[in-house]
Amino acid sequence: MGWRQRRFGAPMRRAATIAFLMALGPAALIPGAVEIVSAEPSAPAGGAAAGADAQPLAFAHCTGAVAAEAEARGVPAGVTDRLRALSPDADVAAAPQGQAEFVKPIWSYLDANLTETRIAEGRRKLAEWSATFDAIEARYGVDRFILAAFWGVESTYGSVLEDPGIVRPVLRSLATLACSETPRAPYWRAELIAALEIQAQDKGPPGPLTGSWAGAMGHTQFMPTVYQAHAVDFDGDGRRDIWTSVPDALASTANYLTAMGWRSGARWGSEARLPDGFDLALADETTERSIAAWKALGVVPIQALAEDGTATLILPAGARGPAFLLQPNFRIILRYNTALAYALSVAHLSDRLRGEAGFTRDWPRGDAMPSAGDVRSLQSRLAERGFPAGAADGRIGPRTRAAIRAYQAANGLPPDGYADAPLRERILASSETKP
Ligand code: CA
Repeated sequence: MGWRQRRFGAPMRRAATIAFLMALGPAALIPGAVEIVSAEPSAPAGGAAAGADAQPLAFAHCTGAVAAEAEARGVPAGVTDRLRALSPDADVAAAPQGQAEFVKPIWSYLDANLTETRIAEGRRKLAEWSATFDAIEARYGVDRFILAAFWGVESTYGSVLEDPGIVRPVLRSLATLACSETPRAPYWRAELIAALEIQAQDKGPPGPLTGSWAGAMGHTQFMPTVYQAHAVDFDGDGRRDIWTSVPDALASTANYLTAMGWRSGARWGSEARLPDGFDLALADETTERSIAAWKALGVVPIQALAEDGTATLILPAGARGPAFLLQPNFRIILRYNTALAYALSVAHLSDRLRGEAGFTRDWPRGDAMPSAGDVRSLQSRLAERGFPAGAADGRIGPRTRAAIRAYQAANGLPPDGYADAPLRERILASSETKP
């Protein structure tokens, strides 16, 4: 599964978050990834009037400019010449423009990331690398189960790194993205320059940088700027080698999580049981209460959470699906990839590796999923009716859920923030406006 999935299916629209492009696979470590790309229409680089040679010329002009900038920052010509010699990678160029026809339900991601095979393999890895995990826990205070869960979700414990059909040269991927006509080109350009700087160091990988189509590298998929800031040499061989050294990759991830504010000894949160008649307006994703306060409202964490800890309450699939109390560490997982489905996958895999059970409440698996176009229509209609849902981007995120909750509340419906097919139809047909 994982990286292979994307090769056979239509990539989804969240370009940099590989987990989403690949539907089920690993994700790039890209801060703010959720904003990176919405569907970007492809545009010929040279403009309509230019001839067939315009695209290669524009690409060469762009890579030449990036090479010059990198040289000004001290990257030697021996490295920048590699950039100048590149041609664009057509598969990478097509990736951000791919659009998922249907919105993938959150339970599909979780199912794919929490197979029995992945859980069993994770437990084997925990045993195999036990001494390394001991040392990383002692040094960084990040527990082994969360690290192993990142490792499992990002690269299936490194197994995808051995697939020559998946792993690509990072400079070419990033050059393709940086020199394409996308609003995010400056982001990719900065990553490309970072990759050139890494390539120029003698403490990096021994050969050309390899990574995903989006330039995410190694066992836990660091983008080049993240590598520069947070990768560590944990095995002491003098290289920060997140490609072939499991200790380096896992310690680099622990180092990153610590830098982002990971709270040692704390959980990510827990599934929660709601009392009958619970006021769903309280599950607004944003209001933070102490665990004691949630308990006083009748919300019962399935796993034990410290009473003085804080959490927000979320119902990702509405009142018919499981509820979760999310604690500050969950937000750190979201720094890796801002998608809720991704973060819940990592969080829950860590629990399963620790030996805990699956969720007690199942998802509304029978629900029909909307197409991305349906979601865009829904978002537009909500906004027209006075319930701003953020950009009409075809993805259901916090702002869309908030708009659905507001619509529900204004119309006397239980405000669970989840639009199933009947509610979607009602909203699309509605002429009601916010009072
Ligand atoms: Ca090393």
